Amino acid sequence: EKTGRLIIVAYRLPFKIVREDEHITLFQNSGGLVSAVLSLVGDGGYASFYAQDKIQWIGYTDNNPEELEGQALENESFRAHPVFIPDDINENYYEGFCNDLIWPLFHYFPSLAHFHDRYFQAYKEANELFFNKVAEVIRPGDVVWVQDYQLMLLPGMLRDKFPHNKIGFFFHIPFPSYELFRLLPVTWRTALIEGIIGADVVGFHTNDYVEYFLKAVRMVSGYGNKLHYINLSNRIVKVDSFPISIDFKKFDGAYNEPEIKEARELARDTLKEKIIFSVDRLDYSKGILHRLSGFERFLQQHQEWHERVVFVMVVVPSRDSIGQYQQMKSEIDQTVGRINSNYGSINWQPILYQYRSMSYAELLGMYTASDVALITPVRDGMNLVCKEYVASRNDNGGVLILSEMAGAAAELGEAIIINPLDNQGIADGIIKALEMPPEEQQKRMEAMRERIKEYDVFAWTNDFFTQMTMLEQEHDKLR
Ligand code: UDP
Repeated sequence: EKTGRLIIVAYRLPFKIVREDEHITLFQNSGGLVSAVLSLVGDGGYASFYAQDKIQWIGYTDNNPEELEGQALENESFRAHPVFIPDDINENYYEGFCNDLIWPLFHYFPSLAHFHDRYFQAYKEANELFFNKVAEVIRPGDVVWVQDYQLMLLPGMLRDKFPHNKIGFFFHIPFPSYELFRLLPVTWRTALIEGIIGADVVGFHTNDYVEYFLKAVRMVSGYGNKLHYINLSNRIVKVDSFPISIDFKKFDGAYNEPEIKEARELARDTLKEKIIFSVDRLDYSKGILHRLSGFERFLQQHQEWHERVVFVMVVVPSRDSIGQYQQMKSEIDQTVGRINSNYGSINWQPILYQYRSMSYAELLGMYTASDVALITPVRDGMNLVCKEYVASRNDNGGVLILSEMAGAAAELGEAIIINPLDNQGIADGIIKALEMPPEEQQKRMEAMRERIKEYDVFAWTNDFFTQMTMLEQEHDKLR
């Protein structure tokens, strides 16, 4: 019988906390991790692993500590335990070490990575602040599930002080090849590896990331592994791939919701042409400029498609306080302007570009209205947009063009797979998609849908927790 609770530790809390005259309102986030963890709550999934208590969630909030004092921060699923990080630390920790070093480096942009001692110092301090909060909350039997690259030191810190609690760690971005990882100073590399293997189960999206991580462990700490089990002197660590997924049923079912139908019809009636669609956060990892070059190449080579196709490109604002991102934004603006002015006519704009976020209905309307989804990150840990596109195609229509550099490509082999740096490859992919016979479109879409349906987000969490539970037995086997 399970008596422990589940403690999630992630950089962010699962909701935004707004206080107005003594009154607190919680706005639940809709991000991938929140819906993944929520999938544990329904259908007895959570209860089968843990005692029936709310999920404890430890995360950073930018509210003032005084503002939240004495307030119960909980909704029907979660109880939040906020971590307050002073601004000067958070700047060097989150904007610095995390997003100005680890993010670019692990997405294969070493030239954009900045190495400052104050970044690493702040990273350690912030991980300690999270540790202190876990130490306040944790009880014997609780399971702690640590999330992502903001918290690589935390599993090790917890292992030292709470040797009997089960600890999981999941990494949501790519783990890079050793030649990139080794660009980190030796002391930093060692601390990160030793921190991560404090967990009992370490999860990545793909087998490649698992292999790269195991190699880093071997090179940095000298531990080998047998079938993905790292044998430490007093315990073992299981390293495995768990490709994160989405709530297939939700996206599938959306197709026939009146609001989505309406959004789809509006898009189709307004845009008379074939629709190519992309949506991503503003980020250099998303390959937006390369995508535009590929589309331009397509326009150059295929006069016959002028005025018969429109590329709806939505870019969601993100990190735009950072100079790099502002610069990329203005390059995108210029490139779109140039392409539209070169190829457009009085009754046709080849690119309909929007810099904003989309509502759920708008997003699903576009997913289900578009003939082609053009998803071309130069690096992406997984990429959920392509899975959402596939899941929402209840009509088995639509063609997915997908970058081989997205983690999701490992599962979506029936997409038109392209190299995101190869303009000609993108142009060829577009023409192939536009001219693909309907029967072939359907066949490919059905196969991809079947796979996402099978391994949805419920399977993902279930799989991770099954591994955590099974580890005891594996311990015995290996001894
Ligand atoms: N999304 C969003 N706001 C929008 C458009 C999309 O929050 O205006 C969602 C989208 O549905 C998807 C997520 O953002 O679930 C993007 O996840 P992905 O893994 O593709 O990329 P990430 O942004 O995490 O790098």
